[in-house]
Amino acid sequence: MKIVFANSAWVSAAERLILRGGGWQKIRLRVRYGLILHPQAGPVLIDTGYTPHVTTGARRSAMLRFYGAVLGPELVEAGQPMSVLARFGLTPRDIRTVIVTHFHADHISGLPLFPNARFIASDAAWSRLKARTARQNLRHGVFTELFPADFETRLDGLSAMRQIPPRGDVPGGADLFGDGSVIAVDLPGHADGQFGLLFPEMDRPLLYAVDVQWLLKALVENRTPGFPARLLAEDFTAIDRTSAALRRFLAAGGEVTRAFRSGPR
Ligand SMILES: [Zn+2]
Repeated sequence: MKIVFANSAWVSAAERLILRGGGWQKIRLRVRYGLILHPQAGPVLIDTGYTPHVTTGARRSAMLRFYGAVLGPELVEAGQPMSVLARFGLTPRDIRTVIVTHFHADHISGLPLFPNARFIASDAAWSRLKARTARQNLRHGVFTELFPADFETRLDGLSAMRQIPPRGDVPGGADLFGDGSVIAVDLPGHADGQFGLLFPEMDRPLLYAVDVQWLLKALVENRTPGFPARLLAEDFTAIDRTSAALRRFLAAGGEVTRAFRSGPR
């Protein structure tokens, strides 16, 4: 099994917004997503990153246009799903599974690109989303207009999957492909129903911890940013608990990677 991470776009933010005690200087962050080449499930996407559906889509609502204008993601052509798949001789029609770690725009933006895919996501979070109005969902940072119309019929919910128990500081969760190779680990705090992906069979167990913290430094040094990150979080108090669990996983020899990653071009 091979796992590749790609950079869909760049966003920048003042360091202090993403790191407690950080400075005013802007940090450039990669908005990543992943591709798993799984021996049985075939090519599987982990989220989609930002795609033109968010930045230039002609049918965007006023709120989505505003969001795109404020955040200003700069799309990376070579890192868009189409380009990355082409490097592996694949097209979007070859993708049979997209794992949707949570419902923020930078994770679901490109779902309409994959007509043959089933979607693995939290069915509990999807039920809560459906019970809310569009305006309430916006307060949770969810643009319902970005979901394909048939999302629900293509949804494979986590709740029906076999659960693998934790082993010491290595977390457990839903066994996505029934072979123990990819496990969905609950990561409460940042977004409703958010989960990360544990790859326990790597030489060093790898946990893709999505958006628990934007900077690895904030995780390792226990520097969760305060306001306004507090306002944006689904459950702010859970972020520190989740971060502490990730630090224990690191201390036990695990490796953590994230959806956002800072660094030069
Ligand atoms: Zn998010």
